[in-house]
Amino acid sequence: MKAFEYAAPSTEAEAIELMTERAGTVEILAGGTDLVGLMKQMLVNPDRVVNLMEIRSLREIEPTPSGGVSIGAAVSLEQILDSHYLDPYASLKQAINNISSMQLRCQGTLGGELCQRPQCWFFRGGHGLLGDDGRAVAQGDNRYHAVFANAGPAKFVNNSRLAPALIVRDARLRIVGPSPDAEQWVDLADFYRIPRHGEQRENVLRAGQFVSHIELPDPGSFQCATYEVRQGAGPEYPLTAAAARLNVQSGVVRDAKIVLGHVAPTPWRSEDAEHELIGKPLTAETIEAAGLAAIRLATPLSRNEYKVTLAQVSVERAVRMAAGLPPGGF
Ligand SMILES: Cc1cc2nc3c(=O)[nH]c(=O)nc-3n(C[C@H](O)[C@H](O)[C@H](O)COP(=O)(O)OP(=O)(O)OC[C@H]3O[C@@H](n4cnc5c(N)ncnc54)[C@H](O)[C@@H]3O)c2cc1C
Repeated sequence: MKAFEYAAPSTEAEAIELMTERAGTVEILAGGTDLVGLMKQMLVNPDRVVNLMEIRSLREIEPTPSGGVSIGAAVSLEQILDSHYLDPYASLKQAINNISSMQLRCQGTLGGELCQRPQCWFFRGGHGLLGDDGRAVAQGDNRYHAVFANAGPAKFVNNSRLAPALIVRDARLRIVGPSPDAEQWVDLADFYRIPRHGEQRENVLRAGQFVSHIELPDPGSFQCATYEVRQGAGPEYPLTAAAARLNVQSGVVRDAKIVLGHVAPTPWRSEDAEHELIGKPLTAETIEAAGLAAIRLATPLSRNEYKVTLAQVSVERAVRMAAGLPPGGF
């Protein structure tokens, strides 16, 4: 590991100052379950590490005046499971429970989960995130890579398990910095981006900025669910996942939002699948049509065509679960 300066500020303003003093060479530390491994392997080599865990305001879960809930970025996943304020957001708790490792749930934070770096094994093997302008992935072992939005150099998948569940709930992020009192609100759906060159990251954060809070609006009368296709019951990442939000009245879908995970460099919204659901009776045929619509524009790589079928299955089963039906399958 490269030597680095370590700081543990107790306010947001101090953290911003510590970051802007060394803009571009600082990494944020939260639970450290992802960052520390990257630093040990010298894949990430900051001059300074700024630990957010001593900032009390980032460790709180509070109701908002508009009936929603604000979650500090340094709140652990286990704290979210324990919070009664978040009981109405059962699908978020369901997505956290899918991370079947007690250690990760206790140590990992919500901000870290959303900002974790891609698991792409070319990146983790030291070949860079966009290794050889994407040719390394295109010509190599790409079985876990993207099946959507993979025409450019970025072919990794976004690995957040919670982002799809939060995006269907219209979650927003509070981003602070780079000046001491600067803050902005960004829809989580707009937070991620597909990098086009090596200087860009996988999200819109600029040097000197970090995520301070995640805000969920009033839970409303939606039914939500997340379905993951996994190889086993351990803590490994799913192959594909989908989150669904439905508003069903008298058996007819009045509103729907579908977001897939682990299929593209960002969480992947499928308006085509939503279109197949909205205004239709919630039947087996409608659900199958939504699954098929979700994969219509898939562009699998040489070794991951199987993920297209899994993406379809994820959407169909997430919709079934949101509707209160058994997901089906084995
Ligand atoms: C063995 C193993 C298995 C794992 N399995 C899973 C899994 O199944 N599902 C899963 O989702 N994750 C998994 N992870 C990844 C990771 O541990 C979790 O996502 C965890 O929630 C990350 O949170 P953290 O607080 O530990 O993040 P950290 O490691 O502290 O940070 C992760 C990244 O996010 C950045 N960051 C952290 N907080 C902020 C913030 N507030 N603003 C801006 N940037 C920030 C950091 O700079 C760093 O780049 C796994 C990790 C390991 C080691």
